Amino acid sequence: MAEGRHRPQRTCLGCRQVHDQSRLVRFVRSPEGTVLVDYREKLPGRGAYTCLSVECIKQAVSRRQFDRAFRTVCQPLSADLLTVELTEALHEHLAALLGMARKSSQAVSGGNLVLDALDRPEKLAVVILAEDVSEGVAEKIERKARVRGVPCFRFSTKADLGQLLGRGERSVTALTKGRLAEAFLTEWQKSKDISGER
Ligand SMILES: [Zn+2]
Repeated sequence: MAEGRHRPQRTCLGCRQVHDQSRLVRFVRSPEGTVLVDYREKLPGRGAYTCLSVECIKQAVSRRQFDRAFRTVCQPLSADLLTVELTEALHEHLAALLGMARKSSQAVSGGNLVLDALDRPEKLAVVILAEDVSEGVAEKIERKARVRGVPCFRFSTKADLGQLLGRGERSVTALTKGRLAEAFLTEWQKSKDISGER
């Protein structure tokens, strides 16, 4: 595959396997010596990488691989805290993608509109339900999404979805097929990978 030729490869500090950088998470060391998750790969300085996996982060921490990668001692590290930071960064990115989808009219929101949109499933990439959606609404939408073959996830709260979608509370939204929906699904898969879910 020609386009893969120049993709940078990095070694995971946990499992020591080499992967495309895009499949790994970047960490940097702050001037104070704190190891930080650099999910969007924007922070300056030398980077260290692990797989998006609790197991790999734990191994990297317990074997002091961050000290080795940064060639200096780092502040004491907790694999659990790094995992929480990573999960939060991922959640923020997913939220940002939803906001962008709304701005570019690639999101439909509200129970009735999503149910209508599910009549044209070939146009839909994913249905997203708030985690605190009422069971009645959830059941109706999940059933129709399943019948129509559109993936359906739980993400965030009604209040947060409403804010991202520029309305009051929102229990459900759907993304139409396109670049943003693809990015959302890729990021979603990463969040499953971290927790080891399949
Ligand atoms: Zn790994």
